[in-house]
Amino acid sequence: MPEGDSLHRAAARLQVLVGQRVEVETPHPRAAGRRLAERLDGLRLEGVEAVGKNLLLRFEGGLVLRSHLRMSGRWRVEPRGALRAGLPWLVLRGAEHEAVLWNGPVLELERGAAAVSRLGADILAEPPDLDGMLARLRAAPQGREVGDALLDQRLVAGIGNIWRAEALWEARVSPWRLLADVPDDDLRAVLEAAHRLMRASAAGTRPLRRVYRRAGRACRRCGAVVRRHPQGEGARPAYWCPGCQVGGNAPPS
Ligand SMILES: [Zn+2]
Repeated sequence: MPEGDSLHRAAARLQVLVGQRVEVETPHPRAAGRRLAERLDGLRLEGVEAVGKNLLLRFEGGLVLRSHLRMSGRWRVEPRGALRAGLPWLVLRGAEHEAVLWNGPVLELERGAAAVSRLGADILAEPPDLDGMLARLRAAPQGREVGDALLDQRLVAGIGNIWRAEALWEARVSPWRLLADVPDDDLRAVLEAAHRLMRASAAGTRPLRRVYRRAGRACRRCGAVVRRHPQGEGARPAYWCPGCQVGGNAPPS
């Protein structure tokens, strides 16, 4: 699953088209039904930015195309006119390059700020709006498990499964604790860790994995055996160390 850091890399690649009037095509039939090409073709692309797990493409006239990649979506930038097999969702063609979206299940055209307001603050922003994230986490039902809440893009934008596991471990907070039982200082420590680890990853360094995909192995901090269990509505696997991330309704081993 693309996380915020890989979307930042995609946004960086798409900068070659910013400032150009683009030809827009929607070869895939499911994308064609949305009439995006008719509405966007020939407009100037004014900016591309990653916000959480969304890529926002701003066109002249205040139109914002929001692309969320889910599990399978990919943006590629190729030379104009490159040959390809298959039907991409969207092609934005500039003078020398074209950006191609494959498998873009969420592709919505919105006006201006509406595209961003439904998202929590971006964990990768510099500096991150920790107070804003904290406020949204506190406005959510406090009976929710913290590991589940961290993946809710309306509360905090950009954290995926790898970095929620790693950030919770860094801050010694169990994913199974309820929000009500996690003090502000601990929540802030989790968010700070996620920001730091994800910035490092976005910059190209690969922070050492402490718990993610290490189930059954010894915790690098306390030696207890790392566990894995599906969590939340999406049943994404949570990884945690029961030795140094205690509390909450952890499932029995
Ligand atoms: Zn441990």
